[in-house]
Amino acid sequence: MKAVVRSLCAHGCVRCGVAVFEYRLLPRARVPADAPAPEDVVLLCPPCHAALAAGGADAALVEGMARAPFASLPDFDRRYRLVSRAAPDVELAGRTMSEISVPVSLAGVPIVQFTPPARDGAATEISLRLGDAQGSPRILVEHGEWMAEPGWSFAHARGRIAVRQEGGPGRFVLRILSPTLARVEGVETMVWGRRLQIDPHRVLIGGRPVIVPAVRRRIVGLAL
Ligand SMILES: [Zn+2]
Repeated sequence: MKAVVRSLCAHGCVRCGVAVFEYRLLPRARVPADAPAPEDVVLLCPPCHAALAAGGADAALVEGMARAPFASLPDFDRRYRLVSRAAPDVELAGRTMSEISVPVSLAGVPIVQFTPPARDGAATEISLRLGDAQGSPRILVEHGEWMAEPGWSFAHARGRIAVRQEGGPGRFVLRILSPTLARVEGVETMVWGRRLQIDPHRVLIGGRPVIVPAVRRRIVGLAL
């Protein structure tokens, strides 16, 4: 069912096109919420859902977006969506790793993972895990779906996707540079007692710098 919804919604938020989203029931849906038809479900990113809720979520407006999802319109800027058939190339601390599914794993946990689109034209699916306040890994995004519990925020603009832990240090910033290239710009997290910090120039594990290998066609780029 989710695959059909993603296809109907052009693989992104119907309001802004970003490929991180929640599955939301359309206002018109009258079916039980546990068994909706794909046509009754729409993809919205957390900020767009909040904006629509703040504006009263005009039913006709959301219906219109569902019929003409933003990522299917000419105005949608395709530079800011990963669509590579293979895993994308990933810049990390100034190095480029080619066709990497998991650019960074920490204590066995894939921090960020890219799943190539099942079909031409679909978006690369992004998954993201960070540690919570106790250092236990949490799924924040799974195959594009925003899964985070309250206490995490999501924002995006012009290809930059940012996830932050409210009131804590946890953060993840990804910048999509082209349909086949992304840069991990910032990470701050702790998983099972291992602290990871990434900025545009360095990767630090427990405060110590790590060399980023220029690998290609690997599942995991950097295992820490
Ligand atoms: Zn949106």
